[in-house]
Amino acid sequence: MKLSTAVSTIACLAVIGTVTTVSAGPGHEHNPANTISTEIDHPDSFRHFASELPAMRARAAEINTEFGLHVSEIEPGLFFVTDLIYQSAFLVTEDGVVVFDAPPSFGERLRMAIEMSAPGVPITHFILSHKHADHNGGGAFFSDVEGLTVIGAQANAESLEANPLRGVPRPTETFEEQLSLTIGGVPIELATANFHSPDTDVMIYLPEQRFLMAVDTITPGEAPFMNFGATSNLQGYLDSFEIFLSYDFEHFLSGHVSVLGTRQDVETARDYAFDVRDTVGDLWPGFMDRFMANMELTEFQHGNLAYRMTMEQIRDDCAGQIVDRWEGTLSVVDLWAESHCETVVLHSIMH
Ligand SMILES: [Zn+2]
Repeated sequence: MKLSTAVSTIACLAVIGTVTTVSAGPGHEHNPANTISTEIDHPDSFRHFASELPAMRARAAEINTEFGLHVSEIEPGLFFVTDLIYQSAFLVTEDGVVVFDAPPSFGERLRMAIEMSAPGVPITHFILSHKHADHNGGGAFFSDVEGLTVIGAQANAESLEANPLRGVPRPTETFEEQLSLTIGGVPIELATANFHSPDTDVMIYLPEQRFLMAVDTITPGEAPFMNFGATSNLQGYLDSFEIFLSYDFEHFLSGHVSVLGTRQDVETARDYAFDVRDTVGDLWPGFMDRFMANMELTEFQHGNLAYRMTMEQIRDDCAGQIVDRWEGTLSVVDLWAESHCETVVLHSIMH
């Protein structure tokens, strides 16, 4: 998808060279687009969104501990943990426990889950999927663990050095692109990727358990979170599916919702993301005609307005098609499809 130079030049000129004369006038009430209303009768009421699909609800994990977490042993020694919103995991080996991410929302209770599942076994390693505080700020609850080895990507370590994030432990061991470890006899493979975090992301792979962890990617059973998991790199996000699927895995831990993902979830999320990309791609050749029509409508007086209208028209056309095609397959498509289409629209302008 490439926006022709002519389009971007005209568009930029229009945006830069605007003189505003189309004004709202007195008594105008600003009605921002895309604001969900809390009012029941409002046309943009929250009540107009579809409920979660029964198939998604049927898969949801349940709290099964006294301390409000779901903890399950998905493979011998490998435990999946969720508060039904965030996810992490830990591995119990002969030599100690390895923690994979500690969200601040349940960092303290993660310690309880480990103690419950492996009483008296020391925690020896902490591996960061990425630096973000919402997935690793719970590291603060592991700061008293003596001799803890914290493993993270070099780029994350540098970034945390420059800008510490609350609770996120600084790596004591780093790697550039790949690291193969064996802890307590269990092989663990780490590799960097660029699908989400502005610095780098780490894929955590346990070949014997056929377990792959790549956080802030998909949301099993649901359309991805806003802007494709708030990605800072759409192309990297799209490219990552092929990388994930090149691994032999059965379990896919994506960091969010209560459900542990499967290979099928990754394939479905890939098909969804590429459908959004292709849908915007199909609408893109009409950008210039729409823009000129909107310029005419605004009497050539408000390039910014015409440009935003054009972006929104393509976004909304895209979202309408995506909702039609996907609402029976994934939950919350009507909630996030607009943001996905908008992410691709913005990306298309710049690429
Ligand atoms: Zn993140």
